[in-house]
Amino acid sequence: MKIHLSRPDITAKEIEAVNEVIRSPILALGPKLKEFEKTMADYIGVKHAIAVNSGTSGLHLLIRAFNITDGDEVITTPFSFIASSNCIIYERAKPIFVDIEPDTANIDPNLIEGAITPRTKAILPVDAFGQPARLDVIREIADNYGLAVIEDSCESLGSEYKGLKAGSAIFADAAVFAFYPNKQITTGEGGMIVTDDEEIAFLCKSMRNQGRGEAGVWLSHERLGYNYRMNELSAALGVVQLLRLEEIINKRRQVAEMYNRRLAEIPGIKLPFIAPEVTKMSWFVYVIRVGTDESTPERQSEVRNYVMTRLGEAGIGCRPYFTPIHLQPFYEEKLGLREGMFPITEHAGRTSIAIPFHNHITEDEVEYVAEALEEALADSIV
Ligand SMILES: *Cc1c(COP(=O)(O)O)cnc(C)c1O
Repeated sequence: MKIHLSRPDITAKEIEAVNEVIRSPILALGPKLKEFEKTMADYIGVKHAIAVNSGTSGLHLLIRAFNITDGDEVITTPFSFIASSNCIIYERAKPIFVDIEPDTANIDPNLIEGAITPRTKAILPVDAFGQPARLDVIREIADNYGLAVIEDSCESLGSEYKGLKAGSAIFADAAVFAFYPNKQITTGEGGMIVTDDEEIAFLCKSMRNQGRGEAGVWLSHERLGYNYRMNELSAALGVVQLLRLEEIINKRRQVAEMYNRRLAEIPGIKLPFIAPEVTKMSWFVYVIRVGTDESTPERQSEVRNYVMTRLGEAGIGCRPYFTPIHLQPFYEEKLGLREGMFPITEHAGRTSIAIPFHNHITEDEVEYVAEALEEALADSIV
């Protein structure tokens, strides 16, 4: 048996929509881009949505749009995909990491104030695995200190925190979604900036299109820009996927519930923690923790890696997720970061495994994964 870690959910409707575009004369900057942006803005409930060619591009544009530059500091989480702090380094600003909450694995709001300096410009929370960070507390801190909140909602399309959607302008000055094929919805590659702020929206629109001005005159460039545009094929795919989002979220919830039921029986596995009351979850990945908290860090890594090897041998896709950003060699060297600085993140980093998670996972596959996990954990004890 081979079970993939992730897989997009593409129906005849998506194929038809992309076919229609490819038979048309407009493959870029056309009606599908506008339609996708409008549909997304309405869905999140924001004034502006700007489609780009990746989530990373969207984050980069926001760092530029908020004028975060040489020597500025942005407070963020080390337990994330690398793009959420690379975007800060692109502009020669400095990511200031603070540790995470042990249960949600999101940035710990209690540690943010202690990291603020006169150079701090923004807070960049990440909605890890689809669960929104504590956005109301973060918003309050940001308001008290005059900071911007840039939400990396690349993993949380459709999730809610205290009744508001991830990416909502109530909490974040701007947010970014991503549509790589492993995300809830895909455009192949792609991303979307959402904001209520007219100026930020204008700057992002201009910079994604080579810095062209408002009129979009082709050879008039008002500022440094990029080619971060989303093409029409991707936008057409995105429109259909977004219309199917509720269906997709429901399918993913059912798979998560199957795993929750079956894996709860296995000693040595900690299920994903979803904050009761406040979080409505749109599942991005399903990440378990393995081993025991009592064993040494070395032993924890050993058990986790052993379990992953065994899953791999059984044809089961899996990944350590996330690998802490501050322990990436490039970050250690550039920012003088070391093991021991963010212990909660490091613990999560050495005990977590993302297991196969997508819309097509069956009950039989859940059983197969569960049995493989059970056997591997039992064998890891000897
Ligand atoms: C997917 C993702 C991104 C953006 O990824 P792209 O591949 O550039 O679209 C950014 N941050 C997080 C946390 C992500 O999971």
